[in-house]
Amino acid sequence: MSGQDSMGSLADILAARIRASGPLPVADFMGLCLGHETHGYYMKQVPFGREGDFTTAPEISQVFGELIGLHLADLWLRASSPAPVQLVELGPGRGTLMADLLRATARVPGFHAALDITFVEMSPVLRAEQKSRVPHARWADRLADVPEGRPLLLVANEFFDALPARQLVKTTLGWQERHVDWQGGRFVPVVPADAPRLDSLVPPALRAAPEGSVFEVLGGAEELALLNRRLTQDGGAALIIDYGHDRHSLGDTLQAMRAHAYADPFAAPGDADLTVHVDFAQVAARAGAGLRVLGPAGQGCFLRALGLDIRTAVLAKANPPKAEALVSASRRLADSDQMGALFKVLSLSHPEWPAPAGFDA
Ligand code: SAH
Repeated sequence: MSGQDSMGSLADILAARIRASGPLPVADFMGLCLGHETHGYYMKQVPFGREGDFTTAPEISQVFGELIGLHLADLWLRASSPAPVQLVELGPGRGTLMADLLRATARVPGFHAALDITFVEMSPVLRAEQKSRVPHARWADRLADVPEGRPLLLVANEFFDALPARQLVKTTLGWQERHVDWQGGRFVPVVPADAPRLDSLVPPALRAAPEGSVFEVLGGAEELALLNRRLTQDGGAALIIDYGHDRHSLGDTLQAMRAHAYADPFAAPGDADLTVHVDFAQVAARAGAGLRVLGPAGQGCFLRALGLDIRTAVLAKANPPKAEALVSASRRLADSDQMGALFKVLSLSHPEWPAPAGFDA
């Protein structure tokens, strides 16, 4: 019982729920660990930065948000500068990307005046951070609450990896959902024998995989379907950036990060970040129909095509004491043995809009 006490109250809540109604699907467990109203990981703290549990691209270098800003402003100009335009960021974290984006585009004629900025964010703690950096933004709980009827420019960095994913395990019976049970004072992954068969959720080419294989069904199905509808109906473009794979693949990618190190995803509910790798083939399948789909390109190729090295050199020259740090931050974002290849960028846009830059290579 001491394990239960030391694990704190979200653990108690989850354990009580499992005792009352049986094991929880991994997706529900993940959703509660991250988003439980009071104890969820994102709901109670600011998790990023050196003192937090992990660092994201906008927190590594200002150049990341700047180049995304220039990418979107360039596209907007070539689309004949529609106004107003709805600029949306899904899961903006501390608001750093948007602040850098806005600073870099301040001199693009008419761009700022055309923008209506909405952050889709569930965490009150992070909303306050975002407000301190982008005071004139609006906030929404879901994409469905963002006004429609005007072209959409959307960016999502490390958002889809944080949405609850379903894990399907190949068993003697077929593909069944992995759950989380409470056994002997610990949370453990199990596949209940009576869990229904969900073979139809697994891409046909992977269904014959050996027993024990895991296939993950990406979360965010509603957001992706809605993104498709909005881009089709209102025009515009979206950039989805995350770590993951460009083709359907097998494997258990659920991971926990605590204090910049990997941890057991079941050990400390609400106190560690939980993510899965994003299957970009699922993103494209759910959101891409009828749209121009570019990529996924490696983040390194994308940023370099947009001028990462030139921008870094300009900044380094203007600020010699910081030159080395700027160059190494850009390398961290773009080199293929760092974030440059594992992180990928997918662009979705209205087919009649001009082609978004950065995907030529
Ligand atoms: N884009 C930021 C933060 C990534 S972390 C960066 O790159 O630094 C994930 C972000 O998504 C956090 O802001 C988190 O609070 C938010 N988030 C996670 N799940 C969400 C959901 N279901 N609805 C809205 N926001 C969510």
